[in-house]
Amino acid sequence: MILDTVKVPWLPQTQIENAANDLLRHWANFSGREIIPPIPVEAIVEKYLGITLEYDKLENLLGIPDVLGATWVEEKRMVINSSLLDGRQGRFTFTCGHEVGHWVLHRKYLFKQTAHSPDAVTKKNPPVVCRVSAAKTRGEWQADYFSASLIMPGPTVREAFHKVFGGDPLVIFNRNSCFGRNNPLALDPSLDTAHQIAKNVIDAGQFQNVSKEAMAYRLEDLGLLVNETGLSLSSSFQAKKPFCKNSRERKPKSSNT
Ligand SMILES: [Zn+2]
Repeated sequence: MILDTVKVPWLPQTQIENAANDLLRHWANFSGREIIPPIPVEAIVEKYLGITLEYDKLENLLGIPDVLGATWVEEKRMVINSSLLDGRQGRFTFTCGHEVGHWVLHRKYLFKQTAHSPDAVTKKNPPVVCRVSAAKTRGEWQADYFSASLIMPGPTVREAFHKVFGGDPLVIFNRNSCFGRNNPLALDPSLDTAHQIAKNVIDAGQFQNVSKEAMAYRLEDLGLLVNETGLSLSSSFQAKKPFCKNSRERKPKSSNT
């Protein structure tokens, strides 16, 4: 039995966010550390949750392409595709947080399903397999949202945003900036400067293990970046994302609301 990410129960965003905040609070009590970025997801997985975290070529291990991560729930073992260890810390951290999301949100559901299934879970067939091609299913979106909430806690993102941009949200009306995409003197909120807006918040809040793309979507989810263009923020990042053609760090608006 492999987790069917289409059929997992619907969950409200607030419940997912609360689950991530609960985990952070437990981690803070356990470790004696404050909840400040960068959130040490690998330490939370290994030290607090007691899950073995490994890196491997999952395409070879499982015999299927485009796998980002996999979790063997019974064995308490997570494997992240070693191709993500290519220097882009943001994608790696986000995927770890995503697997934790499955662990926290879907573990009980999976055990229930497994109890009624004659299929054996083998080393080659983990119960949770996360593929780029399934990124828009409900369960994958939930795990993505959990990951975003975990590595970019709402209060810390708001604090960093307010430091840089003040109290009001930024509203994007245009695709292109009036001053140019990388103008060092002025930043005009637009689709082509969303990456710069995200970078400023990352720098202000010390979110070193978060990608600009993930932060831009988090700002949008938190209502700090309002996109009125009718176009997806993904157009700001597409040229920079060769591995992941369909963004898995983006929620499909219709799937969980
Ligand atoms: Zn997944």
